[in-house]
Amino acid sequence: MALFKKKKDYIRISPNRHQPTNPEPSVPDNMWAKCPSCKHILYTKEMGAEKVCPNCGYNFRIRAWERLALTIDEQSFEEWDENLVTKDPLTFPGYREKVVKAQKQTHLNEAVLTGKALLDQKEIAIGIMDSHFIMGSMGTVVGEKITRLFERATSEKLPVILFTASGGARMQEGIFSLMQMAKISAAVKRHSNAGLVYIAILTDPTTGGVTASFAMEGDIILAEPQALIGFAGRRVIEETIKQELPEDFQKAEFLLKHGFIDQIVPRLEIKSRLATLIQLHQKGDW
Ligand SMILES: [Zn+2]
Repeated sequence: MALFKKKKDYIRISPNRHQPTNPEPSVPDNMWAKCPSCKHILYTKEMGAEKVCPNCGYNFRIRAWERLALTIDEQSFEEWDENLVTKDPLTFPGYREKVVKAQKQTHLNEAVLTGKALLDQKEIAIGIMDSHFIMGSMGTVVGEKITRLFERATSEKLPVILFTASGGARMQEGIFSLMQMAKISAAVKRHSNAGLVYIAILTDPTTGGVTASFAMEGDIILAEPQALIGFAGRRVIEETIKQELPEDFQKAEFLLKHGFIDQIVPRLEIKSRLATLIQLHQKGDW
């Protein structure tokens, strides 16, 4: 059967090899990207590994593994809880398939990557959410992994650095998803009671239950430029309060102006800024 299939494919492709009938120009995937902020068409290589728009400085959404490589010292990552997988508590139709597809696309077991690493030679506990995994939504496993990140950091006396990127709670897990907010918040508080620092970095997009809990509980809250940060969507709020909202509503710059976050840090500077903050919060002599 497999052999038959292969032959069929060969026959179909072979005659067109030298004379393509497809009128579309053949452009390799991901060679060009449109900046969502300034609308410029960009040659992706121009943006570098950091994926920053050279025209307006917009920080493109990046995957958890890419961000990890930009943030920590090389070869210093030890992953935690990489085998936790959702049990589909509501047996939601099509959910398991969706999770498997996201796992293949992102090389993650869930929408957050957690572990221990070195940042400028200092040990840290790190969590990175990935919006490419079902919109970075928070289900039971995301909640459990982040809770364990804080608990283990508390017992190992490590600072926590957490990059958030999320569409909010995961609807396929209903109330179980919402319960994660309180569970994580309790772990954040115990970490704080132990005198340890938690730095949250809000990236595009950080919304819903994630904003309403641990994203806003950092001792220091940083954000990437122009990141969308909010709880309910713009349209929902406008319809509820019957008022038009400002153009930059729910953007990092708007939140900084109104005191919700501490600083906006461009991606190119994030590693050095985190290193300084960790150094300043280090106990003992230095
Ligand atoms: Zn741009």
